[in-house]
Amino acid sequence: MTDRILKEPEYMTCLDCDSSWKVSTNTYYEHNNPFVGTKYYPLCKKCIKKYLNGDEHTKEKRVQTILQQLNRPWIHDQWEKNNCDWGRYMRHVSSLNNGHMTFIDSEFETLKQVDMPSDKSSTNDELVDKWGLGHQPDEYIAFEKKFDFLKRDYALRNSMHEEALKKYCRYAAKEEFAVVNNDFKGIEMWSKLANKAAEDAKINPKQFTKADLTDGIDSFGEMSRAVEKAVDVVEILPRFIQRANDKVDFTIWCYVNYERDLHGLPLVDYKEIYKFIEEREKAYDEEVGLIESSDTA
Ligand SMILES: [Zn+2]
Repeated sequence: MTDRILKEPEYMTCLDCDSSWKVSTNTYYEHNNPFVGTKYYPLCKKCIKKYLNGDEHTKEKRVQTILQQLNRPWIHDQWEKNNCDWGRYMRHVSSLNNGHMTFIDSEFETLKQVDMPSDKSSTNDELVDKWGLGHQPDEYIAFEKKFDFLKRDYALRNSMHEEALKKYCRYAAKEEFAVVNNDFKGIEMWSKLANKAAEDAKINPKQFTKADLTDGIDSFGEMSRAVEKAVDVVEILPRFIQRANDKVDFTIWCYVNYERDLHGLPLVDYKEIYKFIEEREKAYDEEVGLIESSDTA
């Protein structure tokens, strides 16, 4: 194989488009594939570009497929550092270790490195425990989002309910991925499974009772659940932030809306005014606090 450079043809036919291109760095990539006797890999840059274009969701997989052919390494961090740009990435990895790095030297993204939404405290191990092994990082995130969204309105009475909801989330998320990828067979399969799981979990809209849909509360248990779900319920009630409480509040509200009306602005609810006063109050407190602390210093 050492003499392969001597055999370098001037023109080479691309394996994919069958065109005969003049061999150069403009048309073909150099490679480390020991089973291909030419210095350049016989797949033209145009065909590679065409193959890599398309759905962003699955692009990394396609990039890896090409890198495997060229026997160049897949280094996840470098891929991101090069803005997921194929040309830039190739220039970078071709220069590593004098171009001797191969696909075996690849550094794949581990699940540990996946950036989870910042408001999530759950670790990746917890995600695997919760959703099972073998899903894609994107899928874990999609499962969690769907689960968090649905559980707000779905009473998790016991672990059976939780399992049923999880099952639905898995299938429904997979269906969405299939839609994105135009995978019609997948869409049909996942949608069928998701529908069945929704039926079992009783989250099918047609299975909702009147109370489910009207937010009706007809037992003490439901009442306490509703209170627990509400944020700041204890703080909000005594302050009556939604409406004016006395003549002063009411006068301020009327005056603000009078001014707004004169300026052709839409009228505001009292809670907007409450919010504004609170923000100003906070700013004032901070300012005064700064003055006071500089006095004592
Ligand atoms: Zn080609």
